Amino acid sequence: MFQEIHIENTNSCGYKCTMCPRDKHTRQIGFMSVEDFSFLLDRLGPHQGFFHLHGFGEPLLDRKLIEKIAVLKSKLPSAQSLIYSTLGVRVKEDYFMKLLEAGLTHIVISFYGFTRQDYQQIHGFDGIELVKRNLELLAQAMKSSSTFVSARIKIPGPTISSSLPINQPPEILEFCSWAEELGFSINKWSYVHNYSDGRTYNEPSAEKLCPVIEGKRRDILNITWDLNVIPCCYDYNATIRFGNLREQTVEEIFSSPEYLAFVLAHKSNYLDAYPICQNCEKHDYS
Ligand code: SF4
Ligand code: SF4
Repeated sequence: MFQEIHIENTNSCGYKCTMCPRDKHTRQIGFMSVEDFSFLLDRLGPHQGFFHLHGFGEPLLDRKLIEKIAVLKSKLPSAQSLIYSTLGVRVKEDYFMKLLEAGLTHIVISFYGFTRQDYQQIHGFDGIELVKRNLELLAQAMKSSSTFVSARIKIPGPTISSSLPINQPPEILEFCSWAEELGFSINKWSYVHNYSDGRTYNEPSAEKLCPVIEGKRRDILNITWDLNVIPCCYDYNATIRFGNLREQTVEEIFSSPEYLAFVLAHKSNYLDAYPICQNCEKHDYS
């Protein structure tokens, strides 16, 4: 029984964020088809909790996202759906209206730079004006939706500045009050991740037990766009595959030799077969 199901609709992205190991991303770039998405939901069966529809990519690049949200809503009407996005994609004026009408209930927007130059430097994309336009369009859609629940903008907190070249310019206050007036709440990221061997922001933790074995990450089912089940969102290249939901059920995957070997290796802290885990800070959700 999982609390959350994270489905990567695509691993395609036009950004090059400093803190994201996209530069080391070598697996095939792709988009989950609507047919696969529908098949997946049938295979997973009833789930009342959250569905995250994003992974190592920008969900808005998926031209079938609205269709997928609608499929989710029709199959599991009480499920909550959430995407993480930069909103840095050019969309039609009515795009967000349609996305919310299809049934999207939550959105988190990642926003790190507050001037054109800072935004471009941290995200690797000159997108601040495009994102602001999309925030306005999304705000209009939120006002006319009776089912949408929450929109948060996550900005870097002061603790991140030691890891990233981030300025805290006066424009932050101006941006936050503008966004709050539009109806967004503001949260702060307090932490940047190593993403296993992707970055080296934090000391690897050899003593801690992997949170996928014992921790909140155990309650999350992570599925890539090509239906592989992987242990956690740190595994950006899907190097650890417990199985594939096109060929196996969830029960089969979590009874498989691959999963058992993973559990035994982590419990005994013998991680030679799992190079990505050796640089992991093993951070869990609080
Ligand atoms: S953090 Fe998100 S938006 Fe930035 S490069 Fe990675 S996948 Fe793309
Ligand atoms: S130790 Fe490995 S499986 Fe566990 S959280 Fe870290 S990268 Fe993921």
